[in-house]
This record gives sequence, C-alpha cells and structure tokens, in this order.
Amino acid sequence: MTAAVATHDPITLLNASHELLSNDVTLKRAARLLVKGKAVVHEGHDGRFLRHWPWPKVLILVKYVKIAADVLYRPPTVSRKGVLRRDGHRCAYCGRQANTIDHVVPRSRGGAMSWKNLVAACRTCNGAKGNRTPDEARMPLLRQPYTPKRFQLNFAG
Ligand SMILES: [Zn+2]
Repeated sequence: MTAAVATHDPITLLNASHELLSNDVTLKRAARLLVKGKAVVHEGHDGRFLRHWPWPKVLILVKYVKIAADVLYRPPTVSRKGVLRRDGHRCAYCGRQANTIDHVVPRSRGGAMSWKNLVAACRTCNGAKGNRTPDEARMPLLRQPYTPKRFQLNFAG
C-alpha cells in the first residue's frame, strides 16, 4: 500500500508548549514557518519531503507564542463521537440513524481523518459505499461536512 498524501491533508500547528494552535495550516504557511526557522517538523510523513524537511503532519513552534483564546480559532479535535454529534447521529447518505462514521474520500485513497472528510453514516450505507467516493458509489451527500466550533459539540446531543 502506498502512503498517498493529498496536498489538502491538514497540517497541525502546535505551540512550543504543545498546545494546539491550528489543525488547518496551509502548506504555504507551513513552508514559511520552516524556512524562517519559526517551527520545526514534530511529526512527518515517511518517505516524503518538503525541501529537506520531512513532509509535515504536525509542526511545533520553536518559541512559545502567547495568544488570547478568544482571538484564536481552535477547532475541536476530530473524533468519532464528535462527528456523530455534529451530524446529529443522522446518516449523511440516507438520513437514518447513524452509529458509524465514514471517510468521504476513503483513507486508502488519501482521505484525511478530518472534519471535512468525515460524516456520520449508518452501517448499511457505510458498507454499501465501501472503498469508493460518493460519486463513484452514486451516493450523494445530503449535506457537506464542516468543521464545528467547540460550543456546537458541547451543546449538541
Ligand atoms: Zn444510511
């Protein structure tokens, strides 16, 4: 199996304190942080490089940056429970009760474990879709997945 890395794979940025600053850093911004020596690669993809750095999955700032919580948009960490809550436990393909989550673009095809690539799905639809995209499976999404705000998860179901 090849480790396909899509260019849209989200890059996480950690403060020097390991606090999450963003999990949606663009490659351009990541490269700039590396070039300026403001961040180093904390976790990279094996066998793939961005210039001489490992292709970043997680970057960590060299110096601690103090940022007020209210000016910082911090999406909640993606989780199975979180995706089910965001989608109200409704299947993204048929609208029925959902207990599983589905990668819209399958993992094996480079689909990320990200809010925008995960939806709630019932077992039937999840099984029927298999290792295909919604287009290939002719199973259009009833709604587009999005990154929720923290409060949405705290107060939804
Ligand atoms: Zn379904």
